[in-house]
Amino acid sequence: MKRCVNCGESDLVRGTQPYTIDVGGRTFAGDVKGWRCRSCSERYYDGRALERFEGAVARWLAEHGYQTGDELRFLRKAAGLRAADLAEALGVSPESVSHWETGKHAPDVATRNVLAALVLDALGGKTTTKDRLKALRSPPRARRVKVGARKAA
Ligand SMILES: [Zn+2]
Repeated sequence: MKRCVNCGESDLVRGTQPYTIDVGGRTFAGDVKGWRCRSCSERYYDGRALERFEGAVARWLAEHGYQTGDELRFLRKAAGLRAADLAEALGVSPESVSHWETGKHAPDVATRNVLAALVLDALGGKTTTKDRLKALRSPPRARRVKVGARKAA
């Protein structure tokens, strides 16, 4: 960052800056790496640090629970899913996802749990839930399956 977009000064101080996001009527506050203009006090944020902050908000919602359409939309985006992708993963119509997000209908607890799991997977770089949903839609047809029995660790 070289110059303040607001005032044009180049006296920008690097450091963590306070940042908040409002999701579903709740404010999430934290510090995000960025810069502050010494001249006009405008704040700028590092793009990757902002993504990490949004990820932390999504993790909090997924772990603590959520209910509103705004929260659901925020989580869907945090999981990197389009509305059509989420609809397909859950076996519902895209209209259902739209109705949840606009607050016309509320998704049930099981549905909210699946989205929470998708979000936590995405934040951890995993596809466990997505893979399991895919398997549940078309289980293997094998009549005989060999499995290993392991002792619990
Ligand atoms: Zn400035």
